[in-house]
Amino acid sequence: MSTEVAERGVFGRLVGQHDVEQSLRDAALSARGDSSGSEMTHAWLFTGPPGSGRSVAALCFAAALQCTSDGAPGCGECHACTTTMGGTHGDVRRIIPDGLSISVKGMREIVNIASRRPTTGRWQVIVVEDADRLTEGAANALLKVVEEPPDRTVILLCAPTTDPEDMSVTLRSRCRHMPLVTPSVESIAQVLIDRDGLDPERARIAASISGGHVGRARRLATDESARDERQRSLRLAADAIGASTAYKAAENLVKSIEADTKAFYAELKEQELEELKVSLGGGGTGKGTAGTLRGSAGLIKDLEARQKSRDTRARRDLLDRTLIDLAGMYRDALSYSLGSTSTATHPDMARQAAELAARTSPEGLLKCIEAVLECREAVDFNVKLQWALDAMVASIGAAFRPPFSRSGG
Ligand SMILES: [Zn+2]
Repeated sequence: MSTEVAERGVFGRLVGQHDVEQSLRDAALSARGDSSGSEMTHAWLFTGPPGSGRSVAALCFAAALQCTSDGAPGCGECHACTTTMGGTHGDVRRIIPDGLSISVKGMREIVNIASRRPTTGRWQVIVVEDADRLTEGAANALLKVVEEPPDRTVILLCAPTTDPEDMSVTLRSRCRHMPLVTPSVESIAQVLIDRDGLDPERARIAASISGGHVGRARRLATDESARDERQRSLRLAADAIGASTAYKAAENLVKSIEADTKAFYAELKEQELEELKVSLGGGGTGKGTAGTLRGSAGLIKDLEARQKSRDTRARRDLLDRTLIDLAGMYRDALSYSLGSTSTATHPDMARQAAELAARTSPEGLLKCIEAVLECREAVDFNVKLQWALDAMVASIGAAFRPPFSRSGG
């Protein structure tokens, strides 16, 4: 790890988020001198596309608020920082929705915790991941807390966007907004060089085809199977055209998404369990051994439950990623077709994009992009993945037959 990363403490986990990082550091610093809690902004909203690190940013901020070191808040080394990042700080609660929405029960839990004073920490911090999954009822209950927050309570909400579909307008208006951006190719490449020790050329190529997702860039750079997966999903752009290949390709995609999710989580789950164990080991609370063991078992069970409820969401994110890649392929073809010079989504697939452009009209390519977006929506509405993909390849196939295949037709 480079010294630059070490100096940034917990914030070293953020990539290409300079403005947000600075705001959070400033806020955490001024929160230190705020003994009454009256100056503090009690509700924050972190938005950003998948992979930008919105929930990581929220957690870093939670650590900075609780940090007990004399230096910059969020040192990453004190007990408060390590337990916050490890998920065992008593006054930092992470709420991750069960399945598709945050239940009324989950919401009552949030409201209940929000009303408590911190026990050992400086603040009572509640991180609501996927706040876009709040039901209307749950959002209203949360709004009451946000409108009249207890002095020492801070609520951190995470959502993809501030779109009213993701977040109620009233709730959004009560929060200070921290918009994370898609990290630049350069900043992603830099992380791969500094943290993963990759050579610059390899890092840059992986970053350029990662769609702004650091974790994905790392996998593309280091894991051959990840590169294969990407190739396979991009190949669907061409396979979907032929009736004989389309459905088989869609079926293979479903299989590869399942396999990819499994592999992806194997690593993450292990890492989380490790972090939990480290933070449990570091917590000398003076309780009896039996009590500690019981507590540990409970925490591990909690972790497993969190991991399980996250699986559904993860599979979706992965599918989303694949579909965005695919839409990017047709977008590149459309740019080519229209003679536009905009930056390609897949700079390494220029030949394939040109081939697609040669086989249908710009209108046909637009139809393809539409078909991909419709598939995304269908899956969001719980349509079975295989069916949604079948419908998608059918529409794509149609976009390569007359009238679309005749220019201007
Ligand atoms: Zn610290």
